[in-house]
Amino acid sequence: SLLVNFQPGELIFATGEEGHHAYIIESGQVDIFVTTTGKDVSFKTLAKGDVFGEMAVIDASPRSASARALTETCCVVISREQISDRIEASDPVVKLLVSRLLDHIRSLNTGVSQAEMSASDLPNSSVTSSSPVLPHQPVLEKMRLESELLDAIATNAFIPHYQPLVDLETKEILGFEFLIRWKSPTRGWVSPGLFIDTAEETSLILPIGRWVIENACTDLNRFNQALNRSLGTSGKTRPLFISVNVSARQFQAPQFNEELLEILQRHQIPHSQIKLEVTERVLMEGTSAINIIQQCRQLGFHLALDDFGTGFSSLTYLAKFEIDSLKIDQYFVRQMLTHPRTLALMKHILAMTRDLRMVSVAEGVETQEEFDTLRRLGCQIGQGYLFGKPLPFESAQHLLLE
Ligand code: C2E
Ligand code: CA
Ligand code: CA
Ligand code: CA
Repeated sequence: SLLVNFQPGELIFATGEEGHHAYIIESGQVDIFVTTTGKDVSFKTLAKGDVFGEMAVIDASPRSASARALTETCCVVISREQISDRIEASDPVVKLLVSRLLDHIRSLNTGVSQAEMSASDLPNSSVTSSSPVLPHQPVLEKMRLESELLDAIATNAFIPHYQPLVDLETKEILGFEFLIRWKSPTRGWVSPGLFIDTAEETSLILPIGRWVIENACTDLNRFNQALNRSLGTSGKTRPLFISVNVSARQFQAPQFNEELLEILQRHQIPHSQIKLEVTERVLMEGTSAINIIQQCRQLGFHLALDDFGTGFSSLTYLAKFEIDSLKIDQYFVRQMLTHPRTLALMKHILAMTRDLRMVSVAEGVETQEEFDTLRRLGCQIGQGYLFGKPLPFESAQHLLLE
């Protein structure tokens, strides 16, 4: 699991073993040593914030030194995948340099091996039990976060939240956007803004993305069943849709659409009830992602361009891709009532959306005045705290049946 505890004197790994994990010390002290002619020769004592054991993990070579807890020690475990994914994804030159560097360090350390020494052990690093402020702290923090995310997947610590998308004409709920929430045992509630980027840098976004679609499908059926029950015999049905956010990395995975199809088939959900929200960044990612997006579109999935108006907003995307809806970033809603230029832009974005036969969605609607203005300008769908915050399933269902 994520954190491991070692007792004083406990061997963490021994020279010659295969290296599956690296460690970051959370508390305690660790001795790095080699055994020569039956005697342990210690060459380094590490403390909180230090990393060790990463070299054998990087190039899958045997441990070149041993590690033992000196005091009661707690470590965050870093998996081989977390490290090797990064190296695999890196520039070929970087890959080559890393492997050369490792060879070089090993050849310097014949005799008393210091091969398990880490990059943190700069020349002036001394044996200390106080918490050192190291230049690579942000990197270690990121790796710690990754380990926790891995653990969160395993322990079901993500909780789906749903934010209503409302017809501005009738105020009816047409669908929900799936917004992920993480309840961390150590950090409390963590907003996706704080971990999605990290998940995207590694392959962690793939299992998270599958989890999202799986849950979106399960809950979409539950929403629709509840709706049918409450509409009863009136005969009226209004199938809801769910919007899911899909990142560039997910579209780059060649099996993305197959997995998507498999999950929908298993849950018996028509493709048109799932909207894929993509940002311009995704469309900029190059042809492999774009091909998959086009295939999804052909398979009947709806495509929404998220955060429209931020970033580069190249209109060529709208010319090139058949995008079903445009989600106008909350920045515009926030500013339109006080900034005449923003209001003018909003007006024209909505006119353009109509001409292109796209559905317009305004994000971040918080006040009645914003709602009235958007309706007057002909915006079709609204999303924001005025209609509902992102809510856990039960509360979202309650809102739906109100
Ligand atoms: P987004 O797709 O632009 O999602 C809208 C964000 O605006 C959400 O933040 C939502 O809580 C917030 N919001 C909605 N209405 C209002 C409002 O009236 N006022 C204000 N001030 N904010 C409002 P959240 O949930 O923190 O999500 C942040 C971002 O994280 C999302 O931005 C999306 O890019 C990403 N994200 C969330 N869930 C997922 C997911 O399941 N997968 C992926 N790949 N990304 C996700
Ligand atoms: Ca979104
Ligand atoms: Ca958005
Ligand atoms: Ca956003």
